Amino acid sequence: MTTSGTLRSDVAEVAPELTDLRHRLHRAPEIGLQLPRTQETLLEALGDLGLELTLGQSVTSITGVLRGGRSTGTAVLLRADMDALPVQERSGEPFSSEIDGAMHACGHDLHMSALVASAGIMARSKDAWHGTLMLIGQPAEETISGAAAMVQGGLFTRFPRPDVVLALHVGNELPAGKVGIVPGIYNTNADSLRITIYGKGGHGSAPHTTVDPIVTAARTILALQTISSREVKPGELAVITVGYINAGTKNNIIPDQAELGLTVRTYKAEVRKQVLAAITRITNAEAQAAGAPRAPSIDRYEMTDAVYNDPALAQQLRSALESTLSKDNVIMTAPITASEDFSAFIAQGIPGFYLSLGGANPEQYAAATAAGTHLPSNHSALFAPAVDPALHTAIAAEVGMLRSLLKADGRT
Ligand code: ZN
Ligand code: ZN
Repeated sequence: MTTSGTLRSDVAEVAPELTDLRHRLHRAPEIGLQLPRTQETLLEALGDLGLELTLGQSVTSITGVLRGGRSTGTAVLLRADMDALPVQERSGEPFSSEIDGAMHACGHDLHMSALVASAGIMARSKDAWHGTLMLIGQPAEETISGAAAMVQGGLFTRFPRPDVVLALHVGNELPAGKVGIVPGIYNTNADSLRITIYGKGGHGSAPHTTVDPIVTAARTILALQTISSREVKPGELAVITVGYINAGTKNNIIPDQAELGLTVRTYKAEVRKQVLAAITRITNAEAQAAGAPRAPSIDRYEMTDAVYNDPALAQQLRSALESTLSKDNVIMTAPITASEDFSAFIAQGIPGFYLSLGGANPEQYAAATAAGTHLPSNHSALFAPAVDPALHTAIAAEVGMLRSLLKADGRT
């Protein structure tokens, strides 16, 4: 039997149990750094596989270490994110969220289930591979703070330092059954900004006695949109979105201040620097032009670097994935504009690889593509990946990559 044939039967064997685990996780989503129920579910699922399990101290992470037949060799870290989103689920799935205002709308329930399955398959075949496997459950990916918290908590000092870090993410950009590879820059640098524009409040009937921060905010928003169209070199990615504006309480009161919330996405470090500097320059200049009583405050409160897929590693894993999933199911794709704190692990000087996992129902995907429309994306209240075959593909892809890196002898 070929490696992929053996693997297929391994996956088929664990799939029903893992689908059940995924449904349980999906029903009970938790948000942020503290996910005690999710941590407990993972601990229980990984409990009897023979891993050395450690729970996070300040955050609800979980780290499992598994050693192969000979523990000398490569150390590989495989990460699954654990957190959900503040979204009211409307997917209609029979296992929909039972928590009001929270939903696994980014598919992290599927990532955790795949990690547990891969852990089981690797544990049962540990005599056939060499090296050290580290499996981690990471909270707070959505607030891009969990990876950094785990690094600060000693992930690479209390446990074996990995030679390679791996992760995958499900999405509707590809049909379920397929995976996508992007060598080099995979996604964007992300920066969250909170800008407060100060004015001078007063009566809505007497604007001449005030400095209206809403008008300044409006001018600022429009001027910010000229950064990507007029300042950044055409072809370079720079997305500047003002996601909210908060100002005022009543139609006939001019308020004292206005707050803008921005997300900024770029691929290249130099473009990121240019865009952030331009935002500061324009925001200050618009306030000055309006005669604001003081300069705006610009608070950069969440940020993450782009994930960089090591090209040589991507090439090696592409071959491993092609032999595991078949050539047709491994697609070379383009970088995406979302962001990820997986880059915090790579920033420690460790080569990384981040795989795109197809999640779309193949028929619905084909129909949407033919109609020029899109299926509900990650973070949508309607997000519902086709778990079979997406989960099966995730497990096969993870085990295929791990066996390639951990020099498995091809038999289980
Ligand atoms: Zn996600
Ligand atoms: Zn997400």
